Amino acid sequence: MLAVENVMAEYSGMVALHGVSIDIKGTEFVSVIGSNGAGKSTLLKAISGTVKSRKGRITFEGSDITRMAAHRRTELGIIHVPEGRRIFPSLSVVENLELGAYRQEARSKSEENVGLVFEIFPVLKQRRDQAGSTLSGGEQQMLAIGRGLMAEPRLLMLDEPSLGLSPMLADTIFETIKDIRDRLGVAILLVEPAIAGTSWTAVRSFSAAIGKTL
Ligand code: ATP
Repeated sequence: MLAVENVMAEYSGMVALHGVSIDIKGTEFVSVIGSNGAGKSTLLKAISGTVKSRKGRITFEGSDITRMAAHRRTELGIIHVPEGRRIFPSLSVVENLELGAYRQEARSKSEENVGLVFEIFPVLKQRRDQAGSTLSGGEQQMLAIGRGLMAEPRLLMLDEPSLGLSPMLADTIFETIKDIRDRLGVAILLVEPAIAGTSWTAVRSFSAAIGKTL
């Protein structure tokens, strides 16, 4: 469904991606693991279109999207949950979720999809009227992923979902991501740093079990 071929991206002349290729078939779960500064976030940005690809080609479900604007890629179902959660702190959980339904075909199903997110993350239902800023780190991460689901992704890209979480909570998040893949039939591209620690080990063994790790 996604093919990234020999993509190069740069920031003001500084090359951040040197000819990267990956492919995702069907509803595969793919993890990209690399050291800090290796270019993992840039790879996701190149796929979502917020960073331009200087060379190479990106195709999504058979269409060449290399030069397509970011908002059009979103309409195709390429949804990027960026690093650091980036929820709206003064808005409630429900309001944050509703803002995620920006994809045209997801707008009319906003209420139904809030229900779905609450099934996947029951704790968010209990916190539905609470301001985003008052959620714990793990809850904020669930809200960020939930907001991504509100857009009804075909490809869900998650940038360091375990960031700042305890190893146990990170494992729970990874398990939930697997459930999302199985339940909604969505392809997952996840990036995590290659640092010593349980979360990385969890990603690696988890991906080996259910998908592939590049
Ligand atoms: P981390 O694991 O630390 O999040 P990463 O693998 O996601 O790192 P990127 O954020 O993709 O790495 O950054 C790749 C390189 O590009 C780094 O050297 C970084 O300093 C540089 N870079 C990233 N964003 C910008 C930017 N907006 N302007 C200039 N350089 C940038």
